[in-house]
Amino acid sequence: MKAIRELIAECSTQAFDLHFTRAKEWKAEKEGRVVVGYMPIYFPREIIHAAGALPVGIFGGGDRKQVIKGDAYYQSYICRIPRSIMELVLDKHTAHFDGYIFPSICDVIRNLSGIFKQQKIGKFVKYMDFPQNFLPEIGGVYYQQEMAHVLKYIKDLNGVEVTTDALNHSIGLYNKNRELIELIYHIRQEFPWRLSIEDVYHVIRAGTVIPVEEHNDILKQVCAHIQQDIGKPQDKIKVVISGAFCEQPSIGLIRAIEEAGCYVVDDDYMLGSRMIMGPVDPDTDNPLEAIASAYIRQSQYSSSIYDVHDPKELRLAKIVKDRGADGVIFASASFCDPSLLDAPIFQNAFDRMGIRYMAFQFSENINQFKVIKEQVGAFSDSIKLWDEEPIVI
Ligand code: SF4
Repeated sequence: MKAIRELIAECSTQAFDLHFTRAKEWKAEKEGRVVVGYMPIYFPREIIHAAGALPVGIFGGGDRKQVIKGDAYYQSYICRIPRSIMELVLDKHTAHFDGYIFPSICDVIRNLSGIFKQQKIGKFVKYMDFPQNFLPEIGGVYYQQEMAHVLKYIKDLNGVEVTTDALNHSIGLYNKNRELIELIYHIRQEFPWRLSIEDVYHVIRAGTVIPVEEHNDILKQVCAHIQQDIGKPQDKIKVVISGAFCEQPSIGLIRAIEEAGCYVVDDDYMLGSRMIMGPVDPDTDNPLEAIASAYIRQSQYSSSIYDVHDPKELRLAKIVKDRGADGVIFASASFCDPSLLDAPIFQNAFDRMGIRYMAFQFSENINQFKVIKEQVGAFSDSIKLWDEEPIVI
């Protein structure tokens, strides 16, 4: 087993390798291999894996890529992630990618898929509409058709006809992946000092750009380390981060929140890797139906899902309660409509429930966050010094 710092260093390198080197190596290992990029939030990576291809998450350039050309494709008053994705693509960072998938999340991502098509970037561009109807016979069937469409694109490139056995095998691998990630959160809920949220972020984000088999091996080792009594607790409150599910805060900002006095015991930074709660049926005659069923019945709440029958404010409140958190930090990317439109819904509900919260906005490239750090510190102090109210749900 590798030392924990060695594992984290490897994950950190992979997570922020904007040249996607591991995917390039993987592709070069065997002729005919296909690499498929996918945008946030969630995509069922199992089906790409089963088709013999490698799914690779594209989460923007963060504070490590200057955006110049990408700005020409978008107006100023939208978030930054689509511009930095354009910059990465125009600078050939993804030249080894064969196709791109744009899960439906907002108009910005929809328009980005249109730009990719217009500019003829990649061998295929798929805008994937996720169902907003949660009846298995309607939304579920539609979702299966969308997945079959993706598989057709990949088959046209590598000739692979996906089998039931291959899909079941891939489902099993990703079930294990989510199970191990949840184990990390479960351990940190009680012992957050054993692994910082910055380290957790590196570990999970690395899994979006390397083969799942390699990531599962890393996760097993990380879990083994943090099951031991390592580190020392500090006097910090526990918080849940919500709203940063697409454009990602810089790693410095992720670190600053914990440094300012808040153990982050749950978050939605890498929501796609944790979207399905619990296992997908790995032993079925119809794996696409199993994946669709899991999406319909077992999805985490998300600003991209219409959830009138299962309000997200109640679901976030339950996470706060289950994790034993003292409050919530709403972190939204600037101009992120889905996140910012949900914020008042959450905040009105939390005012009624007595759940403490604070909110700020960020851009992926900001690395001057002294003001945010001070606000987070004041939030932490106010709860530590004056809080006696229980959370009522
Ligand atoms: S950050 Fe928000 S607005 Fe921007 S692409 Fe992502 S979901 Fe859409």
